Amino acid sequence: MERTYIMLKPDALKRKVAGEIISRIEKKGFEISEMKMLNLTEDVLKEHYAHIAEKPFFPEILEFMTSGPVIGMIVEGDGVIEGMRRLMGPTQWVEALPGTIRGDFAFSTGENLIHGSDSVENAEEEIKRFFG
Ligand code: UDP
Ligand code: MG
Repeated sequence: MERTYIMLKPDALKRKVAGEIISRIEKKGFEISEMKMLNLTEDVLKEHYAHIAEKPFFPEILEFMTSGPVIGMIVEGDGVIEGMRRLMGPTQWVEALPGTIRGDFAFSTGENLIHGSDSVENAEEEIKRFFG
């Protein structure tokens, strides 16, 4: 069964929409097989976000992602990687349509509520990183 790493970012918890987002994942029919709350360190974020580490906005992302706890999840199902990316909506908040998580709740590209793996390879790497 395909699996992906999903993470509810600190804004989802602060804004009290974590339950709503988890509910959407459940209603879609995907299986949440593991879930935990955790506080991220700068070191783990530099690994997880290596592909944006050189971007000018990266210091803000580090500050945001360490500003409070996150919820990490392993989510399983056929086509779950692409399926979760579609439920989430695109990265740029202006492009995220209503009905998607980012489209309904995000009005910032940096603080966009949720992370989802973008490939099988990255999903396995991220699951290993956050669940061991
Ligand atoms: N990000 C940002 N500005 C951008 C692109 C990305 O602030 O122009 C942040 C945003 O929080 C995003 C994260 O960096 O979720 C990781 O970027 P990625 O391209 O992997 O987007 P995602 O996979 O989260 O949609
Ligand atoms: Mg990404």
